[in-house]
Amino acid sequence: MTYRTHILGGVAIGAVVTTAAGQGYFGLTPLSTPAIFGTFIAAMFGSVFPDIDQPKSKMGQQIPILSKLMRGTFGHRGFCHSLLFLLILHFLVVRFLPSMAFYSLVFCLGAATHLFFDMFNSPGVPLFWPVKIRVRIAKIRTESQFNSKAANLPEKMFRGVVCVLDVLLAVNMAVVLNGGFPAI
Ligand SMILES: [Zn+2]
Repeated sequence: MTYRTHILGGVAIGAVVTTAAGQGYFGLTPLSTPAIFGTFIAAMFGSVFPDIDQPKSKMGQQIPILSKLMRGTFGHRGFCHSLLFLLILHFLVVRFLPSMAFYSLVFCLGAATHLFFDMFNSPGVPLFWPVKIRVRIAKIRTESQFNSKAANLPEKMFRGVVCVLDVLLAVNMAVVLNGGFPAI
């Protein structure tokens, strides 16, 4: 999937985590406005980060040296698209920047939506890397690889569904933050 689709997954995670905190779920307390902002940024950043292994991706273009290194070492949709990658990232943050553990977790949840969305493309993802099993749910073509309108339509439709979900989650979040009952 392209970054436009992935980032909507990050928005969904931002809304879910903010809502969960507002409800006091998982031992969380309601987030302050700056913390809500940070939560959405962390989730959206996480949602596009796994494509750091693709120099042509939006993420890869931001840090080309790291991107080429990751691509050269693991290949696109390799290690960076696995659960192990997320676990190692989170472990390192908890170990060396423990105060950022919450945002690291949100980042990893955003990245998990990236892995989930990529499962809808034909190459799938090596979720259990280094085990060479690729997990795939559907065979939607990635929008960036095909420029004809017809070929791009499936991802556009997928994005539309996620967009509707985002709106519902945002409305639910707004209701919870305003002290009401969850709408969903
Ligand atoms: Zn990807």
